Amino acid sequence: MASSTIEIIPVHLPLANVYLVRGERWIVIDSGAPGDGPAILRAAARHGIAPRDIGLILLTHGHIDHGGGAEALRKASGAPIAIHAADLPMLRSGRNPTELRSTGREGQLLRPFLPWKMKPVEPDITFGEPFDLARFGLAACTVHTPGHSPGHIVLPLPDGSLMAGDLLRGGFLGGRLRGTLPNPPYFVADAAQQQASLERALRLPVHTFYVGHGGPLSAEHVRARLAAGALQIT
Ligand SMILES: [Zn+2]
Ligand SMILES: [Zn+2]
Repeated sequence: MASSTIEIIPVHLPLANVYLVRGERWIVIDSGAPGDGPAILRAAARHGIAPRDIGLILLTHGHIDHGGGAEALRKASGAPIAIHAADLPMLRSGRNPTELRSTGREGQLLRPFLPWKMKPVEPDITFGEPFDLARFGLAACTVHTPGHSPGHIVLPLPDGSLMAGDLLRGGFLGGRLRGTLPNPPYFVADAAQQQASLERALRLPVHTFYVGHGGPLSAEHVRARLAAGALQIT
């Protein structure tokens, strides 16, 4: 495993996690739900990070609990918002597809309580190919992992951390219960793609998954759960 140290600051919001990753300036991975912008900026400030220290807002995908705070962060910091092109329609329309499939009972129960609409956001950067973060001072490239959504990406970092978005979730009740237990995401757009993406992510040289709900998850534990059939989406 690479020995380089990467600074990662998790911000636990009511619905989802956001991560601040140190590059040349700070890179914000995901942005929480609508209204979460100020809480992210307050968490950043507690670590001595001012809005102007934010250089990029990178969304792992276009769901509202990940893109909802992006506009507020951009307004405060001037940093660009980046997202994979395949999730651009979601962000632009401010709507999540309601045909998303629940992977289990918890997803079904959550459905009525999740935000499905927000103010549309026009990102500054869309990418189809791997997005190279070198110009933001981070030796990392996105990897396309569709399934949960068409444009879902993960970001493997040089220290073996994986910013994993909703590729998996940790535990139950948004991670409040057994948060480090690898579970499938609450919803998927395409189960077969999701399975292939999880296998692709496990081939990356990573040891820890930092996920959008609960976590972190150890890659070993993810492998074991996958082998046991516990991550199968039927
Ligand atoms: Zn999602
Ligand atoms: Zn999510």
